[in-house]
Amino acid sequence: MFGFSLPKLVVLGVIIFAIWYVYKIYERKQRILVKEDQDKVKKDTSSVDMISCKNCGDYFVPSNGSIYCDKDTCVVGK
Ligand SMILES: [Zn+2]
Repeated sequence: MFGFSLPKLVVLGVIIFAIWYVYKIYERKQRILVKEDQDKVKKDTSSVDMISCKNCGDYFVPSNGSIYCDKDTCVVGK
């Protein structure tokens, strides 16, 4: 009786583990997809606003119509 049911229990355990493992991978994949979408949106919105600094050439997000960046290393022209 015991020798007959133990393999069944092992197989059942393996099946449950496999289902749980597949679900875990699926859940992680979904989370990565959502994160990639958020990153894409973030990148799209920032790239629209970026302009090149007329002094050092670095790209930055302009504030109140300035053509120069706010970096400490970029002081010429201020
Ligand atoms: Zn600059």
